[in-house]
Amino acid sequence: MQPLFTSLPLALIMLLMWQWPAQAASISALFPVAVYLLLLFTAVLASLMRQWHWLYCLTLLGSHYFVVQQSLQHSLSDPVVASLYLVLPAAFSLLWLLLQWQSKPQLLTAQGISGLLLLGGALPLVWQLTPPLMALQQTVLPLWLQPVSSQLHINWGTLWWMALLACVWAGVLSFKAAAITRWAQFSVWLAIMLFYAFVQQPFISGWMTLAACLTLLLSLSHQMLQLAYIDELTQLPQRRALLAHLSRLGRRSAVTMLDVDHFKKFNDTYGHDVGDQVLKLLGAVLGSEKGLTAYRYGGEEFTLVFSHNNQEKLAEKLEQVRERVASYPLVIRQQDRPKDSKSGKQQRGNSSGSKTVHVTISLGCAIRHSGENTTALLKRADEALYQAKRAGRNQVAIAS
Ligand code: GH3
Ligand code: MG
Ligand code: MG
Repeated sequence: MQPLFTSLPLALIMLLMWQWPAQAASISALFPVAVYLLLLFTAVLASLMRQWHWLYCLTLLGSHYFVVQQSLQHSLSDPVVASLYLVLPAAFSLLWLLLQWQSKPQLLTAQGISGLLLLGGALPLVWQLTPPLMALQQTVLPLWLQPVSSQLHINWGTLWWMALLACVWAGVLSFKAAAITRWAQFSVWLAIMLFYAFVQQPFISGWMTLAACLTLLLSLSHQMLQLAYIDELTQLPQRRALLAHLSRLGRRSAVTMLDVDHFKKFNDTYGHDVGDQVLKLLGAVLGSEKGLTAYRYGGEEFTLVFSHNNQEKLAEKLEQVRERVASYPLVIRQQDRPKDSKSGKQQRGNSSGSKTVHVTISLGCAIRHSGENTTALLKRADEALYQAKRAGRNQVAIAS
């Protein structure tokens, strides 16, 4: 789903150019101003949302487009320009790949600003350096070793080079396949590489830069939604998403509040970081349950939403969840192992660096009354949870 989602702008633009080439060519009269404006708009949006990483990508994209625009002023059969069309995709790909490893650059530092300037200047520098280097290699290298002839064509060398880059991308994606931003960046790279295949048509570069820019916008919005709705620790949707869900919930529904028992004591015994690991594992357990949607309400409290109101089924399911959590072996990585080898070995002998613990949960469920609003429904579920706690914890209570 993710690759499809982030490649959508590229796919749509390719469809436009393939199905309606005349319209695509006429719209391209607005380039390059429209492209620069969209780049600027995306950059402003990225800064407002404090997504500095996108600024680096946009700077690179902008400077690449600038250099391509400059080179389009010259004849493609000029060997210098022809060689640029080999050097540029390579330089762009390498810089783009380098950006993948720079996960959270701090923009407003000397390092951040110099990084931005370097990225903005790297491709224009390639453009500046190519003619003297070309002249030099023409005098130094024998003809058969020179990479470009006077005619521009996609040769085997270029294809091998692109295949190699695609393999590196496959590596990057498999390394962190879950990150949507990586798919987005792959789509951007693909869009940029595609216009080298159609280098004879000058407006393709504008369309592909637009596609790249729209991909970044799409993934920026997706990232913002994630930040607003997904809890970072447990990866479950959080309270804002819960309230949105409850507001469009049908008449037949039920809500369960769930709280970890004696969690304060657990934190005091094992430490807050181990407590966090438990919440993470609990989030994974609840998130994998079928027939319900789990939310992190806040702290060590979770909410389960059901879209039916069959009391028997609810009781059975909640009992099953309670039982599953109580018997679930939570394997905790121990971080405070002694550093010196002797006592470290002794402790490792006992626990081999991890420890299995158990926690229990109490659950309070409320089935929606007709016409009941969400605040009242949540309040009744909370009261039921309080009942379960008072009755001794590790149990389910259903509000009447
Ligand atoms: P009980 O619910 O059974 O009545 O006892 P409790 O000790 O769990 O009581 P309460 O629900 O009031 O305690 C909440 C504790 O949960 C307080 C805090 O130490 C812990 N907690 C809340 N949020 C987090 C979190 O994000 N990480 C960790 N590690 N602990 C949290
Ligand atoms: Mg609590
Ligand atoms: Mg608790």
